[in-house]
Amino acid sequence: MPVDVFEVDLLREPRIGEQAQPLRDPGLDGEVGYLNCLESGACPLLNGENCCGIYPTRPSVCVLFEAGSDECQEARRVFGIPALEPVSTQA
Ligand code: SF4
Repeated sequence: MPVDVFEVDLLREPRIGEQAQPLRDPGLDGEVGYLNCLESGACPLLNGENCCGIYPTRPSVCVLFEAGSDECQEARRVFGIPALEPVSTQA
């Protein structure tokens, strides 16, 4: 899925701007581009360990798109990715 990038994201984390593609059509208020995760099949900001390389300053939509949420599971289903298993929070 493309990841929407907003102006505030660029102010918080310059590496997002280095990887973002400009919008072709007008987007949402404040939206300036997107991370193209389709071309290579993965987000360009994944690091060598397959984790977010900018996790503390990741795009706002990534913060809102909680791993394991209904939206997350639906997106995984649409793209043929196995569902995430619930994570136990008990030690
Ligand atoms: S959380 Fe990080 S690696 Fe995942 S889509 Fe967002 S920017 Fe990319």
